[in-house]
Parts: sequence; structure tokens; C-alpha cells
Amino acid sequence: MILLSDPRVLALPVRDCGEPLTEITATPGVLLDPRERDAAGAYGRARTGVLNRLQQAARALPCGIRFLVIEGHRTAHEQQRRFDRYEDRLRSEGVTDRAELRRRTSTFASPIEVAPHCAGAALDITLADTDGRELAMGGAVNAHRSGDTASCPLDAPGLPEDARHHRALLVRAMTSAGFVSYPSEWWHWSHGDRYGIPPVPERLRRPVNQSLEPLTRRTADHPGRSAFPRRAGGPALHRPQEPRPAHRSGIRSPASRPGVP
Ligand SMILES: [Zn+2]
Repeated sequence: MILLSDPRVLALPVRDCGEPLTEITATPGVLLDPRERDAAGAYGRARTGVLNRLQQAARALPCGIRFLVIEGHRTAHEQQRRFDRYEDRLRSEGVTDRAELRRRTSTFASPIEVAPHCAGAALDITLADTDGRELAMGGAVNAHRSGDTASCPLDAPGLPEDARHHRALLVRAMTSAGFVSYPSEWWHWSHGDRYGIPPVPERLRRPVNQSLEPLTRRTADHPGRSAFPRRAGGPALHRPQEPRPAHRSGIRSPASRPGVP
């Protein structure tokens, strides 16, 4: 699995595409859950192009199923806080080697320099019915916070049949619109950041009834040829290191927020 801390991800050149952040609630047919709400409402925004793609993905969902977005944009300050906190947690559990600590932390918290949420390019997302009731996905969004790391990988083994089916629906809809998953978190999808650079490899576009396991493994095995192509030009990309000034001023996360990424 290629993690966000992988040097090959960091090495990809990016530049800001200039797209503004837009309210997720303005996307037709998409629901926004308040559980990650921050004081400035950053969680409820994403790049305009990302939300256009989300609208496209929503059209690929079966009738009666909607996207429920948990979190979109995240400030650099909040991202760093989550990374530090999860790193502290692993250190307290006995992980002391510096490289190993960074690698394991990035399984569930991105280093700030490549953070997809800070670029406004990522969505933490699940499926719900038309009343907003979440569908069974085999584990909660951000389940690692409660120690349930087994259910988090997109291709987690041993999932109930309904969860496998729902994850497959999510994969089909999101990949049809060009999003790329983070294999260690089934709920995390991005486009236009270092990890979600288009074009999505053709092998990601798999029928819903096919196994998820080879899908993510193959992607991870060949990042240089597929998920992370080097490019000299092409579409504008987001630059996480330099959040737009309008979205980085005075935003603080409430102390009551969950403590891990
Ligand atoms: Zn995420």
C-alpha cells in the first residue's frame, strides 16, 4: 500500500489550480453530516471542481442511495494537530523508530505537506438512504479512532455481504467520476491532490460485483505507472502547502472534537 508519507507522493510537483472552496450543501442530492463540524465551517467545503465531480458520482448511485459527506476541507492547523496526536498515540504504544512512526501515522493521518483535505481536494464520505440513515459499510467512518483499524481498509477481509456490496457501490460511483481512494480508509476519496492525480487507472473502474481486493492491491503495487504519474503539464493541481488565505485565518478547532485523526 502506498501511503501519503511515501517519498514518491511528496516528489510529485503540484501547483494551485485556483478553484475556490464551495459549500458542500450546495451540491444537489448530497447530504452533509455535522459530526466533524468546526467553528469556521471548513469541514463543509471543498474545491468547486471536486464537488462537480461529486455531483457526477452521485448520478452513478442507485435510486434511493445518497452520499453523506463527513468532512471536506481541513485547515493546516487542524491537520497538524491530528497528525501530532496520532503520532503521540503510536509512540505511547511503543513505536519509537522515527521512520516507522511516520509511516504508521500516515496510515490514518496525512503529513501536512501532502494533506489532501488541506488542498480542499478530499472528501470523507459514506452512503445513506434518502432520510440520511447511514448504510452498513462494515465499519464506521474514522473507526480507527475507537481502535477498530481492521474494518478501515477498503478491501478489509471478512466484511458482511451487505457491507461489501455498499463499498462496491461507493467504489463504482466515485471512480466513475475520477476520484481515487486512500486504501487504508474506505471513506477517503480525493481528486487533484498529489494522491488523487488524474487520470484514474482504467483498472480502478471495476464492475460492482468484482472483488475489491485486487482493485486496491494492484493500484498500490504500481504507483509509478498508474496512480501517481509524473507530468510535465496537464490539469492544474492543488498545492496543500499553501492554503488559500481566505481559508486559513483564525480558524480553530473546538476543544471538544475527537482527539485522533
Ligand atoms: Zn479523509
